[in-house]
Amino acid sequence: MSFGRAGKNDYLCTLIQKSLNMSLSREISHAAQLIREGKVVAFPTETVYGLGANALNAMAVARIFELKERPSFDPLIVHIADRTELNRLTTSNDPRIDLLAEAFWPGPLTIILPKSDLIPDIVTSGLETVGIRMPANEIARALISEAGCPIAAPSANKFGQLSPTLAQHVAKQLPDVDFILDGGQADVGIESTIISLNVKGFEILRHGVITREELEKIIPFHALPDAEKMNIVSPGMLKSHYSPEKPLYILEKETAVPADRQRVGILSFKGEDTDGYAHVEVLSHTGDLKTCAVNLFAAIHRLEEADIDCIVAQAVPETGVGLAVMDKLRKAAYRYL
Ligand code: AMP
Ligand code: MG
Repeated sequence: MSFGRAGKNDYLCTLIQKSLNMSLSREISHAAQLIREGKVVAFPTETVYGLGANALNAMAVARIFELKERPSFDPLIVHIADRTELNRLTTSNDPRIDLLAEAFWPGPLTIILPKSDLIPDIVTSGLETVGIRMPANEIARALISEAGCPIAAPSANKFGQLSPTLAQHVAKQLPDVDFILDGGQADVGIESTIISLNVKGFEILRHGVITREELEKIIPFHALPDAEKMNIVSPGMLKSHYSPEKPLYILEKETAVPADRQRVGILSFKGEDTDGYAHVEVLSHTGDLKTCAVNLFAAIHRLEEADIDCIVAQAVPETGVGLAVMDKLRKAAYRYL
């Protein structure tokens, strides 16, 4: 058989692609096997890398808490690949779940629902509710399907530290994990939006890329007054979280911009006012807030590795996805306020 030059390249590309796909599918099968054996596997999702175990196996889930050094009061999100799984994981048949799933799943939306007895208490930290989502990342869904069980997974980092958007970030923070399934960069880059449902509508427990405005097109927003909340502890709302090891300060109006920038790195919103800093990371040259969310953690990881003493961050507008970005920045900066 003979090839023209382009034809031969095409053929080689297809071969390389096929063998890459084959090795990826072998890796997915291996990871699924480990999950079935009760092991803990890091895997890509579109938000950030997750640290997953069989959600129905309490011992396996316990290992997630151990590896992450996560306090037991902080519940895990359960990931599914198929909507019919809801039947056995929640006791609710609220028709709004279908509306939300139709609009946002697979995707970065976690819905808090009454849990069924099948879910061990360790997953929900003893709460009567469970957070469930169907990830958009196809590797994640293939893993869940092949494992044949829902996968409980928090972000694959040590508790309170920066969330990983690359397999390398996981390897650095969690060298003892049983296996890391490398799926390249997480393309949303920040955690899912978390909502709970009440009789009148939904309430946001954690901001993410799916915004209140988008959700309101499907069902009404209704925040319960504090007194009516059934003791909802949503520890994702802790004040300090997502923290880099270097001090991080937000340059809000009252904060003085440092005069000596030689040992300072800047996390810039659009790349303006960055002269003189030792290291510059720009979230989005066009000021697009979704792009900022995608780049946020990876940019902070690079600032962590740069030869600087501290990080300053420019504030982004607090509208739409900007709410989630500023929420993460405030938590990252909290220790240094
Ligand atoms: P992550 O660390 O990204 O896996 O997010 C887990 C977060 O989801 C927790 O820190 C809580 O804020 C939230 N969460 C999970 N399950 C529940 C639940 N049953 N009720 C309220 N919040 C929950
Ligand atoms: Mg996390």
